[in-house]
Amino acid sequence: MDTQLKNDLNEELKELEEKNLLWNPKTLEGPSVARSKVGGKEVLMLCSNNYLGLSNNPILKEAAKKALEKYGVGSGSVRAIAGTFDLHIELEKTIAKFKGTEDSLYYNTGFTANSGAIPALLREGDAVISDELNHGSIIDGVRLTKATRYIYKHKDMGELEQRLQEAKEAKRIFIITDGVFSMDGDIAPLDKIVELAEKYHAAVYVDDAHGDGVLGEKGKGISNHFDVEGKVDADMGTFSKGFGTMGGYIAGSHILKKFLLNKSRTWLLTCSHSAVITAASIASLKLLESSDELVKKLWKNRNHYKKQLESLGFDCGFSETPIVPIMTYDAKKASDMSKRLFEEGVYALPIVFPMVAKDKARIRSMIRADLSMEDLDFAINKIEKVGRELKII
Ligand code: PMP
Repeated sequence: MDTQLKNDLNEELKELEEKNLLWNPKTLEGPSVARSKVGGKEVLMLCSNNYLGLSNNPILKEAAKKALEKYGVGSGSVRAIAGTFDLHIELEKTIAKFKGTEDSLYYNTGFTANSGAIPALLREGDAVISDELNHGSIIDGVRLTKATRYIYKHKDMGELEQRLQEAKEAKRIFIITDGVFSMDGDIAPLDKIVELAEKYHAAVYVDDAHGDGVLGEKGKGISNHFDVEGKVDADMGTFSKGFGTMGGYIAGSHILKKFLLNKSRTWLLTCSHSAVITAASIASLKLLESSDELVKKLWKNRNHYKKQLESLGFDCGFSETPIVPIMTYDAKKASDMSKRLFEEGVYALPIVFPMVAKDKARIRSMIRADLSMEDLDFAINKIEKVGRELKII
């Protein structure tokens, strides 16, 4: 490697280290389950997005095995040329049924759905109005557009309306918001956003990554939760969290699907998903359609956990979902807490600046349906022990 380049990269890495932002990912040595093996140690998993525990579900695994035998491991092509399996089409129909839309388009990940669909939908002369706390994949998608950009204060409907007025001369206007915000676990007021969009003839694009499998009847997501199914123009989501597999999607009208599959480069220029993942994704949605047991268990777990933490004196911020922050405010306390929890057998990560504001550091815990009451009480006891040690409570 060129010495100058090596030194430059090292400098940047040092800067990250000084800011406590250097990742050194721990490895998972088995499935992501309640008690997972991480870095050689069995720990209670509190930082996975596998909300319903579906990533290791036997029904999904069986569907994946059958698809493996029938289709093999890869497709050998992008979707547009020779990589569309009948299973991809079946999945897209299943997503549309689940989300209450006409159709859907399946992308390789949620990240590529956002970073490909947003620039396809917005041209020069258009306007994009975005919540300040939207996910990085939305931010990257917006950066790729030539549309005029407007930001509104987190969930502030007064500011959103102001931005809509400022943008009213634009040819096409899109309001883009996360459904559930991944750092705080709070929910966007989608009903009010839809109302404002109707008033100003704007389109609505919602990222339901953390609402899928979590919010609404049978985990159908935020549009179902607010009863605005069919009123959201682009209902984006991912299989990588509550649904237990991987792959992003955009659900909406037939015309939206036709448009995106012709214009969205992150769909057109990349190899299609393997049949193995696609079949498991279909099985995941069918399982959720057939029973709401897991979703109910998820909420029962989350409500018990949050209530216990709050009764011990912890501050869980603005959480309204299974994303439950434990606010430490101080970045060092958040990273010390995470280290001590790991030693005690609980895996939960600190979230510090710039992921959140400098004085809003926290441990982000994520609750799942496959945790037993004993698991939850184990976690709560350890959090209490470490919290007292570090004078967080
Ligand atoms: N949107 C949000 C709000 C997310 O949290 C994530 C995952 N971190 C994504 C999109 C990207 O999803 P995927 O993992 O499918 O790329």
